[in-house]
Amino acid sequence: MSPYSRRKTFLPFALPSITIDEINAVTDVLRSGWLTTGSVATKFESLVAEYVNAPYAVSFNSCTAAMHTALAAWEIGPGDEVITSPLTFCSTVAVIEYAGATPVLVDIDPETGNFNPKLIEKKITAKTKCVIPVHYGGLPCHMDLISEIAEKHDLLVLEDAAHAFGAEFNNRKVGSISKATAFSFYATKNITTGEGGMLSTSDPEFADRCRSLSLHAISKDAWQRYAEKGKWFYQVDALGFKYNLPDLLAAIGVVQLERIDTINRRRAEIAKKYNDTFISFDFLDYFPRYDSKILKPAWHLFPLLLNLDSLTINRDCFVNELQERNIGTSVHFIPIYHHPYYKRYLWDPSDFPNTEKHFNRTISLPIYPDMSDHDVDDAISAVYDVGQKFLK
Ligand SMILES: *Cc1c(COP(=O)(O)O)cnc(C)c1O
Repeated sequence: MSPYSRRKTFLPFALPSITIDEINAVTDVLRSGWLTTGSVATKFESLVAEYVNAPYAVSFNSCTAAMHTALAAWEIGPGDEVITSPLTFCSTVAVIEYAGATPVLVDIDPETGNFNPKLIEKKITAKTKCVIPVHYGGLPCHMDLISEIAEKHDLLVLEDAAHAFGAEFNNRKVGSISKATAFSFYATKNITTGEGGMLSTSDPEFADRCRSLSLHAISKDAWQRYAEKGKWFYQVDALGFKYNLPDLLAAIGVVQLERIDTINRRRAEIAKKYNDTFISFDFLDYFPRYDSKILKPAWHLFPLLLNLDSLTINRDCFVNELQERNIGTSVHFIPIYHHPYYKRYLWDPSDFPNTEKHFNRTISLPIYPDMSDHDVDDAISAVYDVGQKFLK
């Protein structure tokens, strides 16, 4: 390592990758006279369906909306239980409550950060209706094991693939494996529409029901109502939501999708550089550990794991030291049961020892396509410098 020199400008933790093409696509929609859900959203849906190799895709204004709608369309409600991971964004658990059902949490596998399929069956009761695997950081869960358990107990599998756009399990794209998969196009996700989401499915009736619920369950789309041959008449067939993705945002997604291979390739390149370097840093533990013949991650996150036994500082101090060196970081995630609102479930942190251990020593480093090689080197040398300074 060359002698450490502090970076002059702050390296943000995450930035979207936006080109002139996305900007032009948005202004085209602004000029078109049709801003809300219409032909551009439909085009984005078919492009995503094609990309993830799923027969159907339904657009939403967030991944949260997509997951809530999927649960509602499957008629999951009060009295039902849904199993998921505590190492996730609050949205995964919130949607279970929106549906009126009860969340049940399963501890993670320390090698991947994904919930441990071996622990799922212990939590299954007569009330269990659904399991929501979260592909932590973009590393797919072991979907063969999960599908087998779900089939045996007749459970809906709804994948939270907010981090996993473009990821693969056993040469199958995430989005083509389960009954339902939800993607996020939030500003920091692998591809973005600012805010947005998509649900992919192989079930045409389920797709229709989700699409209907996404727009107040009205019998015709607004864009059919106001188009040339549209009629004024419509009916409300159920209690739906206002979750549709406007063309204004879908237009960004269409362009981002054209760039997805370049975007994800760059993420993988940065991850490789980090991994190849960090493997020789004794104050870090190697993560994630997975079989690259089976799993292809989307590298939404790059979570470091500190080996706290070899350091004189804790995770929070390490984060501050990186901040002082102008490196932006984050922590994924504060476990669900730590949030004040979720105290009501009386979840005991000692029931999730691997999640606790992970949370106490993880730091997510910047990983996004517009980072230069220089940026990556700066992050690496800052990590090295902090590690050396606080080595036991
Ligand atoms: C971002 C995220 C979501 C929510 O996505 P939105 O599109 O913001 O609703 C859900 N789950 C995980 C794991 C996420 O990181």
